This record gives sequence, structure tokens and C-alpha cells, in this order.
Amino acid sequence: MRFIYCPICGTKLIEKDSWDEGAVPYCPVDDNMYFDTPKPCVVVAVMKGKEILLLKQNYTFKNSKVLVSGYVTNGESVEETVYREVKEETGITVGKIKYLGSDYLASKEIIMLTFMAKFVEGNIKKSPEVDWADWVNIDDAICEMSEDEIGKRVVRKLLKEINYTGEKAYRCDIK
Ligand SMILES: [Zn+2]
Repeated sequence: MRFIYCPICGTKLIEKDSWDEGAVPYCPVDDNMYFDTPKPCVVVAVMKGKEILLLKQNYTFKNSKVLVSGYVTNGESVEETVYREVKEETGITVGKIKYLGSDYLASKEIIMLTFMAKFVEGNIKKSPEVDWADWVNIDDAICEMSEDEIGKRVVRKLLKEINYTGEKAYRCDIK
């Protein structure tokens, strides 16, 4: 987001030269530069044997299931966000997390950091912001996630990572 006014004190921002970023909006009152950075968010594909953890959140997609996701908050590492979000949304403890690359979502200025993780322990106990959560056979994941393009990309990467050879998993991909 490119700020015009200081989000803390409301002063109109001026431009200040940052030596490698060029002119950056700057509040002379708070002595703060407002870089035009995206919001970091994690997306996690949790595996348990041949199953993957999917959620339904009606405020995101009406007819589609999604992976666990959430914003990175101040004071934590991205890895900590992964453990925390899976725990908060589903009650599950995960381990062996692996980074699968990033995806930029221009409409929301979000940088999505994608991961796979392994189930360690816990029974599904969804948070109130989640409408449904359960383990889904890996073969059905892409079909169940029709509207979630980024989530489906994560699942495809995960299938490659685990050298999954079942053709059935890709049957809902548009050829
Ligand atoms: Zn200010």
C-alpha cells in the first residue's frame, strides 16, 4: 500500500530519498518511512498419510475448499506463523515444514509464502472463523478446491515433492 498520509499522526507524507529504493513516502513528525511493501501471508498444505487438511471458509470461497492460511504477525518468524495458524484454525500440531515458494496476489497486495507440513498430533477442533475442516484424500484435493487457484498450485507442488504418481489427483485440472 502506498500511503499518502501518515497512518499514525495524519500528516501529509513527503518524499524522502532512500539510498537504494529511491523516493519513499516519509513522515517528518514520526521520522518514519512508509515503504510500499506487500503483506506476508502463509499458506500451508498439511499432510497425514495420503490425506490433506482442507478447510471451508464461506467468506473466502463459497463453493471451494482451501488450505490453512494466515497473516504473519509482528514478533514471529514465518515458520512460527505456520505452526500457529494450523494450530489456531484446526487444533492440529504440525512438524517438518518445508517451503514451496511464493505467489503474489495483486488484488490484495499479499505475498503468499507457501509450505507443506506433516501432521504430528491432535484431533480437528476448528476455530469459529472456520466453517468446516477435515482430512481429504489427496486424489480429491484439486477437485475440491476449484476456486482456489493459489491453493491448487500449492497442492501440485506438494504432489511433485512427494513424487506422487496417481493421475487421478489431476483429473479436475483443465487440460
Ligand atoms: Zn506521522
